[in-house]
Amino acid sequence: MTETIDALTELVAAGGVVVLSGAGLSTESGIPDYRGPSGAARRHTPMTYQTFTGDAQARRRYWARSHLGWRTIARAAPNDGHRAVARLQRAGLVDAVITQNVDGLHTAAGSAPVVELHGRLDEVVCLDCGNQTSREELDRRLREANPGFDVRVDAVNPDGDVDLPDAEVARFRVVDCTFCGTGTLKPDVVFFGETVPAPRVAHCFDLVHRARLLLVLGSSLTVMSGRRFVLRAAKLGIPVAIVNQGPTRGDGYAALTVDAPLGRLLPALADRTAGAPASPALADRTAGAPASPGTVAAAAAG
Ligand SMILES: [Zn+2]
Repeated sequence: MTETIDALTELVAAGGVVVLSGAGLSTESGIPDYRGPSGAARRHTPMTYQTFTGDAQARRRYWARSHLGWRTIARAAPNDGHRAVARLQRAGLVDAVITQNVDGLHTAAGSAPVVELHGRLDEVVCLDCGNQTSREELDRRLREANPGFDVRVDAVNPDGDVDLPDAEVARFRVVDCTFCGTGTLKPDVVFFGETVPAPRVAHCFDLVHRARLLLVLGSSLTVMSGRRFVLRAAKLGIPVAIVNQGPTRGDGYAALTVDAPLGRLLPALADRTAGAPASPALADRTAGAPASPGTVAAAAAG
């Protein structure tokens, strides 16, 4: 393992890194991964675009679940992994972050630029007139339309929704676009069965073409939406390094794979390549937040 970390450190220290991140990076922020070690895939089928747009009852179910799940997502905070990526970016080693996550946590951790490949859950779009609004505003409207709709929630799914009995769904009231008056609202995220907007994909390919290293963080690369960037890098002879808990569908193309918890490995990697943490992290520590013991152990082991 130490040799692998050394090799990864060497690759990242050379700079020109483009990060491709997935759900595994956000599990330590309390947002579960469909396919990771604690994956929820076995009991949760994600909403498809076709079902959402074609079935009013399915939309009601989606919004009822999502309305409850949103409280967890809105509360989620970046973890040590997100913060380490932001440090690497500030140090000039990471040029850009492409994320498959819709939770906005890279940006919340201070990363820039970030390409949110599948959109953001905190934005809402009208399918009829295209008007965009904030999820915060929609949340307020849904609360007003559904007084007393307060079901106990045990677990939130990666798309930001929860499991909910049909009887609860039936009494939920969905609201429409206020701009055009009747339009169907959808979270501004790319659903399964929906394609990522072409200019966004082209921009990501452009980033990959200019990269010296494609660093995959916390993605099993199950969906082609993310895997295609690994395939492209491999085709261009750009090395790919993958840090994920468990195997991925990109392992065969990778120069390096590391099976480790991201919240421990990434801070250690940043310590070794990006120098001392910048002021926000120092402020955290002086405010009394203990340094992660995992970080210290991993750094010492290296
Ligand atoms: Zn509208």
